[in-house]
Amino acid sequence: MGYSIAIDGPAGAGKSTIARRIARELSFIYVDTGAMYRAMGLYFLRKHIEAGDRQAVLREAQAVDIRIAYRDQEQAVLLSGEDVTGQLRTEEVGNMASAISVYPEIREKLVALQQELARQADVVMDGRDIGTCVLPEATLKIYLTAGSAQRAKRRYLELQAKGQEADIREIEADIIERDARDMNREASPLRKAADAVVIDSSDMGIEEVTAEVIRLYKERRG
Ligand code: C5P
Repeated sequence: MGYSIAIDGPAGAGKSTIARRIARELSFIYVDTGAMYRAMGLYFLRKHIEAGDRQAVLREAQAVDIRIAYRDQEQAVLLSGEDVTGQLRTEEVGNMASAISVYPEIREKLVALQQELARQADVVMDGRDIGTCVLPEATLKIYLTAGSAQRAKRRYLELQAKGQEADIREIEADIIERDARDMNREASPLRKAADAVVIDSSDMGIEEVTAEVIRLYKERRG
């Protein structure tokens, strides 16, 4: 195992933006675990399988082939060999990802892939269960959060920038529903690890949060 930074927190807290910057500054690999659950979600959307259809989900999950590649330090997700990276960041896919991530069988498969990546390189990994389950021995654990209105606004701006239509109230309602499901599911719920440092980014800029995480990391390493 190399060095690792685990960043967990609710949807829209800024985890991926921060993680990507940290990876660049420390020359770590950024592992976006949400993208893996999203690729899984995309698979079921394409197959028109309902997340609640446990039998069908578990039968199909065996066969899903998800792999990770790195291009210019950016993570690409391959679904049965097809690069689906550009199709993952929609609300529809995010909600499906959350709905199917409750199944332990799906989590086991993706956690194994995540742990394998952490064995091969120094990583900054973001998700919901990184500090509690995927990398319990992480060098530094961060629990990054922000108020739901603030998080909805960020998601809204992110979608707008990509030219996607969005309704900010709908996004906030979705975010609240998704957080509740992620926090209350039985399998590896979103929870702050006992030894994680909490950062509330509601009133902090990207630079400020990034600098704080790097400072904490250097302090840990001594
Ligand atoms: O972070 P992102 O919004 O891409 O994650 C999509 C969904 O995938 C989350 O709402 C969550 O349900 C699930 N997820 C998870 N564990 C992770 C990462 C994501 O359950 N480590």
